[in-house]
Amino acid sequence: MSTDLIAAARDVVARARRVVVLTGAGISTDSGIPDFRGPNGLWTKNPAAEKAADIRFYLGDPEVRRAAWQNRLTTPAWTAAPNRGHEAIVELERRSQLHGLVTQNIDGLHQKAGNASDKVIEVHGTVWFTRCWDCDDRRPMDQALERVRAGDADPACLECGGILKSDTISFGQALVPEVIERAMQVSDDCDVMLAVGSTLSVFPVANCVPRAKAAGAHVIIVNGAETAMDRFADWLLVGQISEILPALLS
Ligand SMILES: [Zn+2]
Repeated sequence: MSTDLIAAARDVVARARRVVVLTGAGISTDSGIPDFRGPNGLWTKNPAAEKAADIRFYLGDPEVRRAAWQNRLTTPAWTAAPNRGHEAIVELERRSQLHGLVTQNIDGLHQKAGNASDKVIEVHGTVWFTRCWDCDDRRPMDQALERVRAGDADPACLECGGILKSDTISFGQALVPEVIERAMQVSDDCDVMLAVGSTLSVFPVANCVPRAKAAGAHVIIVNGAETAMDRFADWLLVGQISEILPALLS
């Protein structure tokens, strides 16, 4: 990685007024959160977890839900700490340059690092809350985990008795239109789009990149490997995210 390349990209960020950051799993792997399909991925090592992530199996099979609740007790997100990559993005907010932080991650590490909740647009939801499939009641995940620990293997909604799940978007489940709309709006209205740790191959969120480009933004892509949107990048910074981001945003 050329330091000149990082320096040139850093100048662009330094001059920016509205930066949108889009993050994927790659920013959290340095915090010990496994990605899903990599060699050490969650689903590679535990195919049952992939089944639990499919809304049809989850709703249709109490056994799948009981296994999912047991897995939730030890979700790495509960104990993971943000890394230097997350912290660098907080710095961007402190400088009042952060227009929006769109994330595909469900681990809550951006908020844990110190980004304001209202800046973080969680397009795939969060593991820190539960949501009732029937009545939409939303509560802190802690409350449900407490019930699981006390012996309720598949805790039902306290409001209506419906099926509870983490407030994440499962396979087969629709995205939340308002959330996606907000991600697109901030992308249409930024002068720098900084995409970090995402293969940019999951839609519609990957469209944030061409949308920003079409609106005249500079596009900076930081990732450990190539992405599906590399052709839109003005700067392509390939390497260790937790090293590149501090250099880029400091
Ligand atoms: Zn309910």
